[in-house]
Amino acid sequence: MIPAPFDYVAAESTTHALDLLDSLGEDAKLLAGGHSLLPMMKLRLATPAALIDIGRLTELIGIRSDGDELVIGAATPHAAVAGSDLVRADAPLLAHSAAQVGDPQIRHRGTIGGSLAHADPAADLPMALVALGGRVDLLSQDGTRSVAADDFFTGFFETSLEPGELIASVRVPRQPGAAWGYQKFVRRANDWAIVGAAAINGRIALANMGPTPLRARAAEQALADGASPAEAAELAAEGTEPGEDVHADRDYRRHLARVLTRRALENRT
Ligand SMILES: Cc1cc2nc3c(=O)[nH]c(=O)nc-3n(C[C@H](O)[C@H](O)[C@H](O)COP(=O)(O)OP(=O)(O)OC[C@H]3O[C@@H](n4cnc5c(N)ncnc54)[C@H](O)[C@@H]3O)c2cc1C
Repeated sequence: MIPAPFDYVAAESTTHALDLLDSLGEDAKLLAGGHSLLPMMKLRLATPAALIDIGRLTELIGIRSDGDELVIGAATPHAAVAGSDLVRADAPLLAHSAAQVGDPQIRHRGTIGGSLAHADPAADLPMALVALGGRVDLLSQDGTRSVAADDFFTGFFETSLEPGELIASVRVPRQPGAAWGYQKFVRRANDWAIVGAAAINGRIALANMGPTPLRARAAEQALADGASPAEAAELAAEGTEPGEDVHADRDYRRHLARVLTRRALENRT
Protein backbone atom coordinates (compact mmCIF):
# COMPACT_ATOMS: atom_id res chain seq x y z
CA MET A 1 0.00 0.00 0.00
CA ILE A 2 2.91 2.35 -0.71
CA PRO A 3 2.73 4.39 -3.94
CA ALA A 4 5.51 4.31 -6.51
CA PRO A 5 7.85 7.33 -6.20
CA PHE A 6 6.46 10.58 -7.64
CA ASP A 7 7.24 14.30 -7.74
CA TYR A 8 4.84 16.79 -6.20
CA VAL A 9 4.28 20.39 -7.24
CA ALA A 10 1.65 22.75 -5.86
CA ALA A 11 0.25 24.86 -8.69
CA GLU A 12 0.21 28.58 -7.87
CA SER A 13 -2.62 29.38 -10.29
CA THR A 14 -4.77 27.71 -12.92
CA THR A 15 -2.42 29.07 -15.60
CA HIS A 16 0.52 27.54 -13.75
CA ALA A 17 -1.35 24.20 -13.55
CA LEU A 18 -1.96 24.26 -17.31
CA ASP A 19 1.74 25.10 -17.96
CA LEU A 20 2.75 22.17 -15.76
CA LEU A 21 0.28 19.84 -17.50
CA ASP A 22 1.85 20.83 -20.83
CA SER A 23 5.48 20.56 -19.74
CA LEU A 24 5.14 17.37 -17.69
CA GLY A 25 2.91 15.63 -20.24
CA GLU A 26 0.84 12.51 -19.71
CA ASP A 27 3.08 11.22 -16.90
CA ALA A 28 1.62 13.93 -14.64
CA LYS A 29 -1.77 13.89 -12.93
CA LEU A 30 -3.79 16.61 -11.31
CA LEU A 31 -4.35 16.20 -7.58
CA ALA A 32 -7.50 17.71 -6.03
CA GLY A 33 -8.81 16.07 -2.84
CA GLY A 34 -6.74 12.94 -3.43
CA HIS A 35 -9.55 10.69 -2.20
CA SER A 36 -9.71 8.66 -5.39
CA LEU A 37 -6.25 9.20 -6.86
CA LEU A 38 -4.20 8.38 -3.76
CA PRO A 39 -5.97 5.04 -3.09
CA MET A 40 -5.33 4.15 -6.76
CA MET A 41 -1.66 5.09 -6.36
CA LYS A 42 -1.33 3.06 -3.17
CA LEU A 43 -2.73 0.05 -5.03
CA ARG A 44 -0.35 0.88 -7.91
CA LEU A 45 -3.32 1.09 -10.27
CA ALA A 46 -2.01 4.60 -11.04
CA THR A 47 1.70 5.40 -11.15
CA PRO A 48 2.00 9.06 -12.20
CA ALA A 49 5.53 10.44 -12.26
CA ALA A 50 4.30 13.79 -10.91
CA LEU A 51 1.29 15.24 -9.12
CA ILE A 52 0.13 18.79 -9.82
CA ASP A 53 -1.82 19.95 -6.77
CA ILE A 54 -4.79 22.15 -7.69
CA GLY A 55 -6.72 21.49 -4.49
CA ARG A 56 -5.88 24.85 -2.91
CA LEU A 57 -6.41 27.11 -5.92
CA THR A 58 -9.00 29.60 -4.70
CA GLU A 59 -9.90 30.50 -8.30
CA LEU A 60 -11.24 26.93 -8.68
CA ILE A 61 -13.23 27.01 -5.42
CA GLY A 62 -16.64 28.59 -4.91
CA ILE A 63 -20.29 28.64 -5.94
CA ARG A 64 -22.11 31.46 -7.74
CA SER A 65 -25.19 31.96 -9.87
CA ASP A 66 -24.83 33.03 -13.48
CA GLY A 67 -28.20 33.71 -15.11
CA ASP A 68 -30.13 30.45 -15.30
CA GLU A 69 -27.21 28.39 -14.02
CA LEU A 70 -25.23 27.70 -10.88
CA VAL A 71 -21.48 27.63 -11.44
CA ILE A 72 -19.41 25.52 -9.07
CA GLY A 73 -15.61 25.67 -9.12
CA ALA A 74 -14.02 22.29 -9.80
CA ALA A 75 -12.03 22.23 -6.55
CA THR A 76 -15.08 22.96 -4.39
CA PRO A 77 -15.35 20.21 -1.75
CA HIS A 78 -18.47 18.06 -1.53
CA ALA A 79 -19.22 19.49 1.95
CA ALA A 80 -19.36 23.04 0.55
CA VAL A 81 -21.75 21.94 -2.21
CA ALA A 82 -23.93 20.04 0.27
CA GLY A 83 -24.03 22.97 2.71
CA SER A 84 -24.45 25.83 0.23
CA ASP A 85 -27.69 27.81 0.67
CA LEU A 86 -27.54 28.66 -3.04
CA VAL A 87 -27.28 25.02 -4.13
CA ARG A 88 -29.91 23.90 -1.64
CA ALA A 89 -32.34 26.50 -2.99
CA ASP A 90 -31.64 26.24 -6.74
CA ALA A 91 -30.35 22.68 -7.24
CA PRO A 92 -31.37 20.69 -4.15
CA LEU A 93 -30.77 17.38 -5.95
CA LEU A 94 -27.09 18.33 -6.29
CA ALA A 95 -26.79 19.38 -2.63
CA HIS A 96 -28.40 16.11 -1.56
CA SER A 97 -26.12 14.10 -3.85
CA ALA A 98 -22.98 15.76 -2.46
CA ALA A 99 -24.20 14.96 1.06
CA GLN A 100 -24.38 11.24 0.16
CA VAL A 101 -20.67 10.97 -0.72
CA GLY A 102 -18.74 8.86 1.78
CA ASP A 103 -18.33 10.31 5.25
CA PRO A 104 -17.60 13.84 6.57
CA GLN A 105 -13.82 13.47 6.15
CA ILE A 106 -14.23 12.48 2.49
CA ARG A 107 -16.74 15.27 1.89
CA HIS A 108 -14.33 17.87 3.28
CA ARG A 109 -11.40 16.77 1.07
CA GLY A 110 -13.03 15.33 -2.06
CA THR A 111 -14.03 17.78 -4.77
CA ILE A 112 -16.76 17.91 -7.40
CA GLY A 113 -14.22 18.20 -10.24
CA GLY A 114 -12.22 15.25 -8.91
CA SER A 115 -15.32 13.10 -8.68
CA LEU A 116 -16.41 13.93 -12.24
CA ALA A 117 -12.91 13.43 -13.70
CA HIS A 118 -12.54 10.12 -11.87
CA ALA A 119 -15.84 9.04 -13.53
CA ASP A 120 -16.69 6.09 -11.33
CA PRO A 121 -20.05 4.81 -12.69
CA ALA A 122 -21.11 4.04 -9.09
CA ALA A 123 -20.41 7.58 -7.84
CA ASP A 124 -22.98 10.11 -6.71
CA LEU A 125 -22.07 13.36 -8.45
CA PRO A 126 -21.74 12.01 -12.02
CA MET A 127 -25.29 10.58 -11.76
CA ALA A 128 -26.57 13.86 -10.28
CA LEU A 129 -24.98 15.93 -13.05
CA VAL A 130 -26.51 13.71 -15.75
CA ALA A 131 -29.95 13.88 -14.09
CA LEU A 132 -29.73 17.67 -13.84
CA GLY A 133 -28.60 18.11 -17.44
CA GLY A 134 -25.48 19.93 -16.26
CA ARG A 135 -22.29 20.81 -18.08
CA VAL A 136 -18.57 20.72 -17.43
CA ASP A 137 -16.32 23.65 -18.39
CA LEU A 138 -12.90 22.46 -19.54
CA LEU A 139 -9.81 24.65 -19.72
CA SER A 140 -6.55 24.15 -21.63
CA GLN A 141 -3.81 26.29 -23.20
CA ASP A 142 -6.05 26.42 -26.29
CA GLY A 143 -8.99 27.97 -24.42
CA THR A 144 -12.24 26.69 -22.94
CA ARG A 145 -14.95 24.34 -24.06
CA SER A 146 -18.15 23.27 -22.39
CA VAL A 147 -19.29 19.64 -22.52
CA ALA A 148 -22.79 18.42 -21.65
CA ALA A 149 -22.87 15.83 -18.86
CA ASP A 150 -24.47 13.37 -21.31
CA ASP A 151 -21.32 13.55 -23.48
CA PHE A 152 -18.69 13.93 -20.76
CA PHE A 153 -18.66 10.32 -19.51
CA THR A 154 -17.37 8.17 -22.35
CA GLY A 155 -16.55 4.81 -20.74
CA PHE A 156 -15.61 2.95 -17.58
CA PHE A 157 -13.62 5.57 -15.59
CA GLU A 158 -13.22 7.48 -18.88
CA THR A 159 -14.22 11.01 -19.84
CA SER A 160 -13.89 13.35 -22.79
CA LEU A 161 -11.06 15.25 -20.99
CA GLU A 162 -8.15 15.62 -23.44
CA PRO A 163 -4.46 15.71 -22.45
CA GLY A 164 -3.59 19.19 -21.17
CA GLU A 165 -7.17 19.94 -20.08
CA LEU A 166 -8.60 20.41 -16.62
CA ILE A 167 -12.12 20.86 -15.34
CA ALA A 168 -12.48 24.50 -14.33
CA SER A 169 -16.11 24.49 -13.26
CA VAL A 170 -19.39 22.65 -13.31
CA ARG A 171 -22.69 24.22 -14.42
CA VAL A 172 -26.17 23.09 -13.45
CA PRO A 173 -29.51 24.67 -14.39
CA ARG A 174 -31.17 26.60 -11.58
CA GLN A 175 -34.48 24.83 -10.89
CA PRO A 176 -35.89 26.16 -7.63
CA GLY A 177 -39.05 24.35 -6.61
CA ALA A 178 -38.67 21.52 -9.15
CA ALA A 179 -39.76 18.13 -7.80
CA TRP A 180 -36.90 15.63 -7.62
CA GLY A 181 -35.98 12.27 -6.12
CA TYR A 182 -32.70 10.57 -5.26
CA GLN A 183 -32.16 6.93 -4.42
CA LYS A 184 -28.89 5.16 -3.58
CA PHE A 185 -28.90 1.49 -2.64
CA VAL A 186 -25.86 0.62 -0.52
CA ARG A 187 -24.69 -2.33 1.52
CA ARG A 188 -23.05 -0.17 4.20
CA ALA A 189 -23.32 3.48 5.20
CA ASN A 190 -20.79 5.71 3.36
CA ASP A 191 -20.54 3.35 0.37
CA TRP A 192 -20.76 3.82 -3.37
CA ALA A 193 -24.10 2.88 -4.94
CA ILE A 194 -24.78 -0.74 -5.82
CA VAL A 195 -27.38 0.99 -8.01
CA GLY A 196 -28.56 4.61 -7.86
CA ALA A 197 -31.38 6.57 -9.47
CA ALA A 198 -32.00 10.32 -9.65
CA ALA A 199 -34.98 12.03 -11.26
CA ILE A 200 -35.93 15.63 -11.98
CA ASN A 201 -38.16 17.30 -14.57
CA GLY A 202 -38.69 14.14 -16.60
CA ARG A 203 -34.98 13.24 -16.69
CA ILE A 204 -33.82 10.04 -15.01
CA ALA A 205 -30.18 9.06 -14.42
CA LEU A 206 -28.88 5.74 -13.14
CA ALA A 207 -25.62 4.90 -11.34
CA ASN A 208 -23.77 1.59 -11.71
CA MET A 209 -26.04 0.22 -14.44
CA GLY A 210 -23.28 0.29 -17.06
CA PRO A 211 -19.79 1.68 -17.66
CA THR A 212 -20.97 5.29 -17.26
CA PRO A 213 -23.85 7.05 -15.51
CA LEU A 214 -26.82 6.46 -17.82
CA ARG A 215 -30.10 8.08 -18.79
CA ALA A 216 -33.11 5.75 -18.41
CA ARG A 217 -34.40 6.88 -21.78
CA ALA A 218 -37.22 4.37 -22.24
CA ALA A 219 -38.67 5.36 -18.86
CA GLU A 220 -38.24 9.06 -19.70
CA GLN A 221 -40.11 8.56 -22.99
CA ALA A 222 -42.92 6.70 -21.22
CA LEU A 223 -43.29 9.58 -18.76
CA ALA A 224 -43.39 12.07 -21.62
CA ASP A 225 -46.14 9.94 -23.23
CA GLY A 226 -48.22 10.13 -20.04
CA ALA A 227 -47.28 6.94 -18.18
CA SER A 228 -47.50 6.94 -14.40
CA PRO A 229 -44.25 6.86 -12.39
CA ALA A 230 -44.86 3.17 -11.60
CA GLU A 231 -45.46 2.31 -15.28
CA ALA A 232 -42.45 4.31 -16.47
CA ALA A 233 -40.17 2.83 -13.81
CA GLU A 234 -40.86 -0.67 -15.17
CA LEU A 235 -38.81 0.40 -18.23
CA ALA A 236 -35.89 1.83 -16.24
CA ALA A 237 -33.47 -1.02 -16.95
CA GLU A 238 -34.23 -1.24 -20.69
CA GLY A 239 -31.10 -1.15 -22.78
CA THR A 240 -28.75 -1.35 -19.80
CA GLU A 241 -25.88 -3.82 -19.47
CA PRO A 242 -24.92 -3.62 -15.79
CA GLY A 243 -21.89 -5.47 -14.51
CA GLU A 244 -21.92 -8.26 -11.92
CA ASP A 245 -19.93 -8.42 -8.70
CA VAL A 246 -20.11 -9.80 -5.17
CA HIS A 247 -22.85 -7.29 -4.32
CA ALA A 248 -25.32 -7.96 -7.11
CA ASP A 249 -25.77 -9.93 -10.31
CA ARG A 250 -27.17 -8.38 -13.49
CA ASP A 251 -30.82 -9.31 -12.87
CA TYR A 252 -30.75 -7.99 -9.31
CA ARG A 253 -29.26 -4.69 -10.53
CA ARG A 254 -32.04 -4.42 -13.13
CA HIS A 255 -34.61 -5.07 -10.40
CA LEU A 256 -33.01 -2.38 -8.24
CA ALA A 257 -33.05 0.09 -11.14
CA ARG A 258 -36.82 -0.38 -11.53
CA VAL A 259 -37.55 -0.09 -7.81
CA LEU A 260 -35.23 2.88 -7.21
CA THR A 261 -36.49 4.72 -10.30
CA ARG A 262 -40.08 4.37 -9.10
CA ARG A 263 -39.10 5.79 -5.72
CA ALA A 264 -37.10 8.60 -7.32
CA LEU A 265 -40.08 9.46 -9.55
CA GLU A 266 -42.24 9.54 -6.42
CA ASN A 267 -39.79 12.24 -5.21
CA ARG A 268 -38.42 10.09 -2.41
CA THR A 269 -34.91 10.57 -0.97
C1 LIG B 1 -13.64 5.62 1.64
C2 LIG B 1 -14.19 6.38 0.48
C3 LIG B 1 -15.55 6.41 0.28
C4 LIG B 1 -16.08 7.10 -0.80
N1 LIG B 1 -17.43 7.08 -0.98
C5 LIG B 1 -17.95 7.69 -2.06
C6 LIG B 1 -19.35 7.67 -2.28
O1 LIG B 1 -20.14 7.15 -1.51
N2 LIG B 1 -19.81 8.29 -3.40
C7 LIG B 1 -18.98 8.92 -4.31
O2 LIG B 1 -19.45 9.45 -5.28
N3 LIG B 1 -17.65 8.98 -4.10
C8 LIG B 1 -17.12 8.38 -3.01
N4 LIG B 1 -15.78 8.46 -2.79
C9 LIG B 1 -14.92 9.19 -3.76
C10 LIG B 1 -14.86 10.67 -3.40
O3 LIG B 1 -16.01 11.32 -3.84
C11 LIG B 1 -13.67 11.38 -4.08
O4 LIG B 1 -13.50 12.57 -3.38
C12 LIG B 1 -13.85 11.74 -5.52
O5 LIG B 1 -14.19 10.61 -6.31
C13 LIG B 1 -12.56 12.28 -6.12
O6 LIG B 1 -12.42 13.62 -5.77
P1 LIG B 1 -11.01 14.16 -5.33
O7 LIG B 1 -11.14 15.64 -5.28
O8 LIG B 1 -10.59 13.46 -4.11
O9 LIG B 1 -10.11 13.78 -6.61
P2 LIG B 1 -8.64 13.21 -6.70
O10 LIG B 1 -8.56 11.90 -6.01
O11 LIG B 1 -7.66 14.25 -6.33
O12 LIG B 1 -8.55 13.00 -8.29
C14 LIG B 1 -9.32 12.00 -8.93
C15 LIG B 1 -9.04 12.06 -10.43
O13 LIG B 1 -9.54 13.26 -10.98
C16 LIG B 1 -8.49 14.02 -11.60
N5 LIG B 1 -8.82 15.42 -11.33
C17 LIG B 1 -9.04 15.98 -10.12
N6 LIG B 1 -9.43 17.25 -10.26
C18 LIG B 1 -9.47 17.50 -11.61
C19 LIG B 1 -9.82 18.62 -12.39
N7 LIG B 1 -10.24 19.79 -11.85
N8 LIG B 1 -9.75 18.53 -13.74
C20 LIG B 1 -9.36 17.35 -14.32
N9 LIG B 1 -9.01 16.25 -13.63
C21 LIG B 1 -9.08 16.33 -12.28
C22 LIG B 1 -7.22 13.52 -10.98
O14 LIG B 1 -6.09 13.70 -11.82
C23 LIG B 1 -7.54 12.04 -10.77
O15 LIG B 1 -7.37 11.35 -11.99
C24 LIG B 1 -15.22 7.81 -1.70
C25 LIG B 1 -13.83 7.82 -1.47
C26 LIG B 1 -13.32 7.12 -0.40
C27 LIG B 1 -11.83 7.16 -0.17
